[in-house]
Amino acid sequence: MTYRYREIPDADVPTAMRRAGELAVHVASTVLNVGRTRIAWFLPDPHGRVQVPSCYATLYDDHVLWGMYRPGDEHVWMNAGLGPIKAAFVGLHEVRHRWQFATAGLIDEPDAYDWADKTWATYGHHFWDTKGTDQ
Ligand SMILES: [Zn+2]
Repeated sequence: MTYRYREIPDADVPTAMRRAGELAVHVASTVLNVGRTRIAWFLPDPHGRVQVPSCYATLYDDHVLWGMYRPGDEHVWMNAGLGPIKAAFVGLHEVRHRWQFATAGLIDEPDAYDWADKTWATYGHHFWDTKGTDQ
């Protein structure tokens, strides 16, 4: 099974969400020392050019892909329709995958959730401006 998405420009991502995701990815990249991590934003599209085999897709409610890291990439994929809070959490999770692959050559889902939870507890309240949420 393959899921299809289309990449969308940064400028088309709702501002509060983009800022929350970018800040979370920046913090995670800095803490884990993986170098700058770009975000490629996407939206589900049955005709989209981004094809994700189900082995890389972590699917959440309603079979929506929140984010993705493809081993070897220097960027993470993030769904542009999540709202700021989910975007920040997904950013932490996906950067952890980048770190896992760089340090151990593998992807470990339980570790990525665990690390994102712990990092969220420390930094989460910095990731979005409650006055500007547009989720
Ligand atoms: Zn994952």
